[in-house]
Amino acid sequence: MGKKPNKGCRLILLFFLLSLILFWSQPRVEAQEREKPVKYLAITGARLIDGTGHAPLEKAVIVIANDRIANCGPQGQVEIPKGAEIIDVKGKTVIPGLIDAHLHFTYPPKEEEFFFINEAISAFRAANFLHQMLLIGVTTVRDVSSFSRVGYEAKKAFNLGLFEGSRPIVTGPGITCTGGHGTEGYRLGIVEEADGAAGFRRAVRQRVKEGADLVKILPPYSREEILAAVEEAHFHEKFITVHSGVYKAQYDFVRWAVEAGADCIEHAYALPEDVIPQMAAKKIYCVPTLSILIKLGNQYKEKGTEWEWKVKKYFECQELFRQLRAAGVRMAVGTDAVGENMASYPHFYFEEVENFVALGASPLEAIVAATRISAEVCAASDRLGTIEKGKIADLVVLAGDPLKDIKQLRTAEIIIQAGRLIPLK
Ligand SMILES: [Zn+2]
Repeated sequence: MGKKPNKGCRLILLFFLLSLILFWSQPRVEAQEREKPVKYLAITGARLIDGTGHAPLEKAVIVIANDRIANCGPQGQVEIPKGAEIIDVKGKTVIPGLIDAHLHFTYPPKEEEFFFINEAISAFRAANFLHQMLLIGVTTVRDVSSFSRVGYEAKKAFNLGLFEGSRPIVTGPGITCTGGHGTEGYRLGIVEEADGAAGFRRAVRQRVKEGADLVKILPPYSREEILAAVEEAHFHEKFITVHSGVYKAQYDFVRWAVEAGADCIEHAYALPEDVIPQMAAKKIYCVPTLSILIKLGNQYKEKGTEWEWKVKKYFECQELFRQLRAAGVRMAVGTDAVGENMASYPHFYFEEVENFVALGASPLEAIVAATRISAEVCAASDRLGTIEKGKIADLVVLAGDPLKDIKQLRTAEIIIQAGRLIPLK
């Protein structure tokens, strides 16, 4: 009988001691964090295109404190902190880190591998791919439908600093109906099949639970299903984007997505003309993916006359782009090369920006599409996409002036991601 209270007392004492240790150790860790010296980096003499759409600023100064932009503006008006590392880039142009707003970095580079893909090889390939993209100045990518858990895990690995590459923003597997787009030929793990409004709601909740940054839906779906998905995504304050594609009732899918209030349509493809003004009125974005549609159009031309209708649809993207732009629909830069076409990366990205210009956008407009608007469709414009005070310090120094020739985007000399200079070799 006498032993029982002693054991209880010991437990209480142990608990008390543990609490004390936790209580005292916690603030000290925080204090150490606070005492870490701020590392300043100043970029001077630049022609600054800040991504907001404002005219370029000559002889600009950008001050970076650790991973953030502390200040930027004209020379003489921006104070450079004592002890800052200074990089003079006189005569060169600074732009925000570029963003690819539509790709699939977890997919295999050969179509047949979709049937025996595994997470390990997908993850290794993803790390390599993201590194290649970073080295051309693409500091962030938006992965819209990833294989299994690899998209989420790539994001975690990036945040842990386990690899150097473009920052992943991910949807996880896309959501479609049973047998819908992404399941062709029994491809493995790139979409989740759901049915009915309740099924689509559950699938959206599942993505949110797994850590998706945004949600991707692929047709076919019913009106009720897309409405439920959009409602559920918005309930969780998640951006929701919808793939536009050709099916029998092709025109209804986009119409229903627009009616439901989805945030974005992927691909300037099979969009009914009368839906375009509705997209503009509702401020629904489009990621037109022009270059891959044109590339597929050229590849399908070889397939024979029975493919003519599809080839026509692919090439229509150019006219749709003009109509979307004229209507004021905000468009982001995304590439979407999969399978064998992945061999065109990383420089394929520049083709897309150049196509914006070839189809009527000014170089400044195309740069804004590749930075600020692409950050908006990543649901990350609070921290990415422009060079402004408080934003994450992602920026690229170009040798040439892309406002004179958009091809100068290909001349990255210095790449900074979250305040860190990226070694280019
Ligand atoms: Zn895609």
